[in-house]
Amino acid sequence: MTLPTKPIRSLRPTLDTPFHIDYGWWNKGDRDLRVYLRSHLCAQHRDQLAEANLDGDLVDWIDPLTAEVKRMDALVLLMQAHCAQQPGFIGEHSSIVDAAFRVFLTNDNQPLTPRDLAERIDRDAETILRTIGGKQIYQGIRPASG
Ligand SMILES: [Zn+2]
Repeated sequence: MTLPTKPIRSLRPTLDTPFHIDYGWWNKGDRDLRVYLRSHLCAQHRDQLAEANLDGDLVDWIDPLTAEVKRMDALVLLMQAHCAQQPGFIGEHSSIVDAAFRVFLTNDNQPLTPRDLAERIDRDAETILRTIGGKQIYQGIRPASG
């Protein structure tokens, strides 16, 4: 499969650039979203799903912002509906990338700027921008418009 090449972004992300999880990023190469997601499951679901084969488990999901129907990974929806709602889900000891990823799981992946993220994960906004705003994309977190 050939993907159209995107024009190189002329504007670098700033503290006010909205970011989100690009689930499409996970579909490229041999990245395994489910393996990564499992590490964010609550203890209860980690036990329950330890032996489950969730590959290709897609469900219809209606985007709350656009009312567009999308095929979503059932594991993502389970996490949004349950695990992400557990107290302490956004762990204070996790890395910036993991903490930001968890924030987007708790808010249905609505775009947030590094300033917004800074408030939610209690880190410095500049540090967050340097981490997720560089050339390297971590766990699919990238500018929502790009
Ligand atoms: Zn759970």
